[in-house]
Amino acid sequence: MKVGFVYDPIYLKHDTGQHVENARRLEAIISYLEQTELKPQLTPIKPRAATVDELSLIHHKQHISHVREVAQRGGGWLDTDTVMSAASYEAALYAAGGAIRATEAVVNGEVNSAFALVRPPGHHATVTRAMGFCLFNNVAIAAKYALAKYKLERILIIDFDVHHGNGTQDAFYDNPQVLYISTHECPFYPGTGSLEEAGKGEAKGTTVNIPLPAGCGDAEYLQVFEQIIAPATRRFKPQLILVSAGYDAHWADDIAMMQVSITGIVQMVTIIKELADELCSGHLVFSLEGGYDLTALAASVKATFEVLLGNTNIEDPLGQPPHRAAAPNITPLIKAIREIHKLP
Ligand SMILES: [Zn+2]
Repeated sequence: MKVGFVYDPIYLKHDTGQHVENARRLEAIISYLEQTELKPQLTPIKPRAATVDELSLIHHKQHISHVREVAQRGGGWLDTDTVMSAASYEAALYAAGGAIRATEAVVNGEVNSAFALVRPPGHHATVTRAMGFCLFNNVAIAAKYALAKYKLERILIIDFDVHHGNGTQDAFYDNPQVLYISTHECPFYPGTGSLEEAGKGEAKGTTVNIPLPAGCGDAEYLQVFEQIIAPATRRFKPQLILVSAGYDAHWADDIAMMQVSITGIVQMVTIIKELADELCSGHLVFSLEGGYDLTALAASVKATFEVLLGNTNIEDPLGQPPHRAAAPNITPLIKAIREIHKLP
């Protein structure tokens, strides 16, 4: 198994100061991969800057030039949550280009699967604006790029970040070539992603939202993956799977109120990998979104790589949540989503 990773120190230059989405996240991941001696088992993939034409596959030109101009002025706040520095425009070009390069490497067969360890993250960035710590929508850009470059007809995006990827949903809401499936805490930022939002026109049914109540843990996520994500994926028959990999549903992450452990993440990634092996020659690309507890984030990313490498008996250094609240019963919710989407 050749597993690629995209990384470049340019991603550390997106300087957000004391913001929760900061360069220490990637530093923690890279140093943990080194410390645990996993890094030498991975194939490095050098990112490149995405071109303005590539960004324009998703974003309006005004949004792209606005981000460039704020960088030229030395940085600033794009909305109440999203801050950038002078180097952030360039870092964001490389983040989008990193997701593109990871996708190219997988589709070209340079590696079996890949993980773009990039920042700024992307899934909240809409066609017209930056939001939620995101400047450009890395995964959406990579999906559009792959549809065009490789003449693909069906790409699946799975977004297991604890927040709804409103930007990605918007980008493909009327595009039947991209199935967007999101698990997210609800009610929660950014407020979108209700189960009734399912796509429009000929894309009706190609947006699958799974809004979960706070407190869901490994068992609930496994239920969702087995009863919604797996059948929806098998029916769609993707030619490529992209994953918006956010690790903020981990119990140690203070940004949200989920109870997922690394064992749960391993279960989810294993299902995704098995679906990719079964349906699309294993063509699978992860791109980093959220995850703010540095220890949980680094261990989660490492566990993801281990699944991709085909390792078993993967360690969970953080274990189960110490004060597990009663799990919500999500069986009625799953039933409702399965009915909306007429899942087999
Ligand atoms: Zn998130």
